[in-house]
Amino acid sequence: MSAKLLEGKPIAEKIQTEIRQEIKSLGSTVILASIQVGDNAGAESYVKSQKKLAESLGIEYRFNKLASETSEAALIEYINKLNIDKSVQGIIIQMPLPSQIDYKKISTFICPEKDVEGMHPANIGKIVFGKAKILPCTPAACMELLKSTGVNLYGKEVVIVGHSEIVGKPLSLLLLEEFATVTVCHIGTSKAGKLEEHVKKAQILIVAVGKPNLIKGDLISPEAIVIDVGINRVEGKIVGDVEFEAAAKKAAFITPVPGGVGPLTVTMLMRNLVEAAKLQRV
Ligand code: NDP
Repeated sequence: MSAKLLEGKPIAEKIQTEIRQEIKSLGSTVILASIQVGDNAGAESYVKSQKKLAESLGIEYRFNKLASETSEAALIEYINKLNIDKSVQGIIIQMPLPSQIDYKKISTFICPEKDVEGMHPANIGKIVFGKAKILPCTPAACMELLKSTGVNLYGKEVVIVGHSEIVGKPLSLLLLEEFATVTVCHIGTSKAGKLEEHVKKAQILIVAVGKPNLIKGDLISPEAIVIDVGINRVEGKIVGDVEFEAAAKKAAFITPVPGGVGPLTVTMLMRNLVEAAKLQRV
């Protein structure tokens, strides 16, 4: 392996130190309201890690679990109460939600100033104008990893694989803000047989698909930066979307999976909470 490992934990810890100071300087309790609907092992594990980090940063994590049969209307009513509760600065809805609730619809009811996931259309829209204070967590984590390399993004050939609303699409906008040349690939690119040619030209490659080994290591161009967002369970192990060993032989920087993007995303959530608290003060 010749690539440098881009690990999320040390970057997360540095940002956490800044968050702790900001929370102190705000001078009053900052509260993150977390809503889970029904039982789910995955959601419970996210809640546990959010709570642990929140408490270590001096944030009050106010957890609310609603019954699995909660209707969309009842959840909206609940969100509205939190929207007007001045003691609460941030609201997060845990995924997955039961089938009767449409997340895309529900998320638009969270007041944009309290939308710590950065997924409200108003916050996504602000990215287009370069005015966003609250950013979607996974794209923000990718940007922090890129920043840590010290590489100037201006004019760089960036290829994103995956065009989901939570990763690929908002990330493409953040990279455009830095004057990178951005290509976004998706299933249509693969079906047209064009994925390899785009991957080969990437000076920076970011993959967020959810298919193990989709990107063959020998396609990575020499000295590329590779950010692997994918999380896949294969034979009891967590792996990304990129063939790690082969890619690490060619790249300049590569994220490990696990240990790359993952450790930074919850920290981005808490940074958004601080921004949310500041926005609500003005
Ligand atoms: P989605 O399923 O929403 O999006 C996957 C994207 O990949 C879609 O744009 C899809 O296109 C595209 N795609 C599917 N197959 C191919 C293919 N063969 N070639 C090119 N593109 C393809 O997933 P998410 O964005 O939510 O997540 C992606 C991965 O990142 C998952 O493994 C997820 O677990 C992980 N993740 C990790 C996070 C972290 O903190 N580390 C946070 C969020 C996600 P289309 O929709 O057109 O089919």
